[in-house]
Amino acid sequence: LASSLRLPVAKYGGRQTVTVLAGDGIGPEMMECIKRVFSVSHAPIDFEDIELDSRPGAGDASMNNAIIAIERNGIALKGNIETKFDDPTVHSRNVELRTRLDLYANVLHCQTVRNVPSRHKDIDIVIIRENTEGEYSGLEHETVPGVVESLKIVTRRNIERIARFAFDYAVNHGRKKVTAVHKANIMKLGDGLFLRVCKEMAQKEYSQLQFEHMIVDNASMQMVARPQQFDLMLMPNLYGNIISNIACGLVGGPGLVSGMNIGDHYAVFETGTRNTGTSLVGKDLANPTAFLRAGVDMLRYLRLNEHAEMIEGAVVRTLEDRQIHTPDLHGSHRTSEFMDSVIADIEEQMKSKH
Ligand code: ADP
Ligand code: MG
Repeated sequence: LASSLRLPVAKYGGRQTVTVLAGDGIGPEMMECIKRVFSVSHAPIDFEDIELDSRPGAGDASMNNAIIAIERNGIALKGNIETKFDDPTVHSRNVELRTRLDLYANVLHCQTVRNVPSRHKDIDIVIIRENTEGEYSGLEHETVPGVVESLKIVTRRNIERIARFAFDYAVNHGRKKVTAVHKANIMKLGDGLFLRVCKEMAQKEYSQLQFEHMIVDNASMQMVARPQQFDLMLMPNLYGNIISNIACGLVGGPGLVSGMNIGDHYAVFETGTRNTGTSLVGKDLANPTAFLRAGVDMLRYLRLNEHAEMIEGAVVRTLEDRQIHTPDLHGSHRTSEFMDSVIADIEEQMKSKH
């Protein structure tokens, strides 16, 4: 993944500084989990914590500060920032961050985990979602009372680069089939362009890959009925949001899967379904897996593979072998028990290394 991308520059004495936007809800306590495993595994990472004020009317200052910090470090770990939906003047700061940093690709890897209860077995899907435009342009107005226009903007440039990203990802990661998801039967121009660009690129430049396309309603049904048929899915912003959540739900829910936001210059690592988990705060109940995997994704992106594998191995053994499952996975273990297992596992690995 990182091979075609520039590595960030904020590296001092072999250590990488990473911006941390803990976000709302369980974000801050989950960030502490990440920091602990990084520390125990001696990952050469330093954290720059940025307070992002998510209160309505907080103004641009704290957002600008966050953006500048990510531009400086090149990399961020992020929790979800709550967006109130009862105030039309308050826009999502999560979306603002992704668009201002031009993080055009969202990448999720949804895979069933042995011994974690799920509705289907053997799911292994990569979802690549356009992350900056489409339905998320934020352009809405009420032309006359009772009539609202919500603009879905798509551009050939952005479709081309997300499609290229997805096909390259497939080639570099040994994926065989790419499924483009659309609604071109209804949105003939917008989704029509998306479909046409994907098709042409597949035929002309990636003939070694199998390519298919599917209308989003059928894709949703197929996901629920027979998800094993999918390998890599490529889609516009909103469909990507919804299909991602279906996929995460199928493999174990919001606590399990991480999501990467990648652009040509910066990368931001967060959880796949982007929840705040407000009701879980301080209860020692949240599943830290998704956040820990975001940390692992980040380490891999930074080519710190040894540390990534150590932490990932500890998480996998905690879930699969020791079956320490938090309530979201129908278990009765606590966050702290999960973390104790992960930390003990990493400490074991560190011992046998030295
Ligand atoms: P809320 O903000 O109301 O808590 P969210 O949209 O943030 O809801 O999350 C949706 C659901 O997923 C909630 O039931 C929440 O408890 C659950 N959830 C989110 N993150 C986690 C996690 N890390 N571990 C376990 N459950 C989670
Ligand atoms: Mg929420």
